[in-house]
Amino acid sequence: MSLGHEDQLKIAAVREPGTAPSSHTGSPRRLSILGATGSIGQSTLDLVGRTPEAFEIVALTANTNAQDLAGLARRHRARLAVIADPGGYEELKNSLAGTGIEAAAGEAALVAAAGLPADCVVAAIVGAAGLKPTFAAVAQGRRVALANKECLVTAGHVFMSAVTAAGTELLPVDSEHSAAFQALGTSDLADVERITLTASGGPFRTWPKERIAAATREQALQHPNWTMGPKITIDSATLMNKGLELIEAFYLFPVGVDRLDVVVHPQSIVHCLVSYRDGSVLAQLANPDMRTPIALSLSFPARMSAPTQPLDLVKLGSLTFEAPDLERFPALGLARAALERGGAAPSVFNAANEIAVAAFLEGRIGFLDIATTVATSLDRAERESLFRAPHSLADVLATDEAARAVARNVIGIG
Ligand code: NAD
Ligand code: MG
Repeated sequence: MSLGHEDQLKIAAVREPGTAPSSHTGSPRRLSILGATGSIGQSTLDLVGRTPEAFEIVALTANTNAQDLAGLARRHRARLAVIADPGGYEELKNSLAGTGIEAAAGEAALVAAAGLPADCVVAAIVGAAGLKPTFAAVAQGRRVALANKECLVTAGHVFMSAVTAAGTELLPVDSEHSAAFQALGTSDLADVERITLTASGGPFRTWPKERIAAATREQALQHPNWTMGPKITIDSATLMNKGLELIEAFYLFPVGVDRLDVVVHPQSIVHCLVSYRDGSVLAQLANPDMRTPIALSLSFPARMSAPTQPLDLVKLGSLTFEAPDLERFPALGLARAALERGGAAPSVFNAANEIAVAAFLEGRIGFLDIATTVATSLDRAERESLFRAPHSLADVLATDEAARAVARNVIGIG
């Protein structure tokens, strides 16, 4: 599939003159953060805390941690704090008593918060739980800074159609996609020969397969370059994260699956490369710190300051690149196959992986079983006709649920 400039503009956002929050002279930017207590949420709030006069926090949300959420809401003077778990409501309300900050709980409140008037909604909930609120933000025409991968991976065309229908702007937060977005600029996708995402290779990049097979939870949670939430850290060790990112890129930058590539780059300095048909290759480089892509998503089309370590190429000395080993890390092959199978296959890929990662973290399955579970779940789901293309968010959620049941069954836990 190859689409033109019009489609690219869906995510290329506006090119109106903008003012960076750090040099803001007008009214502050109204910001809501879905998943405020997580790794991306906290990095976003770290940036906000450096220029608090440039932002006004509308809503902050979290899953279960009422104390942390209340603390963040107080520190950043949010108007509303929403806890997804209704059981956390009393604690949240009590912690915010006398502050004037409104407290709410439950899924409906989360979805309502996502759609509140704001200049930008940071979608940083992990997993399929992020779908409904992010769709709500899009439907209300909010600019969305998208960290949640699952909106694209599970809902792909449905999500991008919702973005187009709402005429809203989507800014990728994932570092590789932020890099691609920057390297693409306003270029015509027809001129793009290849988009190459880089992967660190994770903690087991140099390990032989037998050693990887025995990898523990603790070893898999040690990412060499990035500090992130546990789910994405395991995904980086299996390279499932890069598989998910390949699928994300497929929908964000529709150049076709055969023009998307992955190269292992252990230093995580070059985040993505765009090769053009005239032989030029444009790349974005930065030290690995999510505050850089988050900053761009908050200030685009302007730039704001971020505390990322400046890049010192001389000190680094060299940047290295190698081909991914699909035998030791089958995830990339599975992701590509899911894209080629089409329909809801990427959604099944994601759901099965979420179940498998949770089972690995609970000590129920071994490290290599994660990829095996995903592969077997994909085959079974295809036999059970679960690959029908979704046409709505309801279809996406139904497939997600059915695929989870398949994966649980494959693991033997449901
Ligand atoms: P995290 O686990 O650190 O935080 C997740 C956030 O989502 C928390 O605030 C949590 O309270 C909330 N949450 C979890 N389950 C929820 C539920 N059922 N309902 C409502 N809220 C819920 O995750 P993270 O590492 O910040 O990642 C967030 C998203 O961003 C993921 O989709 C991830 O793939 C993506 N992403 C993360 C990074 C990174 O560096 N951490 C980089 C690129 C993309
Ligand atoms: Mg990434």
